[in-house]
Amino acid sequence: MTTDLRGELELLRELGYTHLDLSRRTAVAAGDAADDVAGDQNETLDDLARIARACTQCKLAGTRTQVVYGVGNPNADLMFIGEAPGRDEDLQGEPFVGRAGQLLTDIIKAMKLTRDDVYIANVVKCRPPENRNPEPDELDACRPFIRRQIEMIKPRVIVTLGRFALQSLTGRDYGITSKRGQWLEYEGIRIMPTYHPAYLLRTPSAKKDVWQDMKQVMAELGIAAG
Ligand code: URA
Repeated sequence: MTTDLRGELELLRELGYTHLDLSRRTAVAAGDAADDVAGDQNETLDDLARIARACTQCKLAGTRTQVVYGVGNPNADLMFIGEAPGRDEDLQGEPFVGRAGQLLTDIIKAMKLTRDDVYIANVVKCRPPENRNPEPDELDACRPFIRRQIEMIKPRVIVTLGRFALQSLTGRDYGITSKRGQWLEYEGIRIMPTYHPAYLLRTPSAKKDVWQDMKQVMAELGIAAG
């Protein structure tokens, strides 16, 4: 069995699939995966996106318009990880494209980067109805996807945006106010927790804290400030 196909099957097991129906082309699309085995890193992320788009492992599958998998540079040094898609993201299929997304884009520009330089994703790939908080079973069901994305992209730094991204990745009950601005680690990768841009829209006075956190990230990545 090739490494890529093995990886896809392992992901499906982590997602809770106990058997594959090979009598038709399912989410696994065993034939497609086998065709793609010579794919580069980009194609492998695409393979995972295809699996995610067919995912029915939690109740959000019943209410989403589309799965919002992630965008950006598959070889990014820097990954931004948010909570879950909102209404705009659910309609457009891309993370952080609404008002909070515009603010994130501005933060990225202030760091002398573009959205194409970094990779942007969420810990939950489908919109919770009425933008409610993601529930524990939804975070658990979706965790294999973000873990795989990180594994493939291998960023040097991850910025988690808000409490849910921080808690879902670390598996710890951390408060965002006490942890923001402090380096943590995930699988040998440095994590900088910071506030969610939606919080900054409600609390503009917290923008200066986020900028302090981003300056630490820039220093770590060797991007000159000023
Ligand atoms: N908030 C998030 O956490 N993610 C998005 O993609 C949009 C808003």
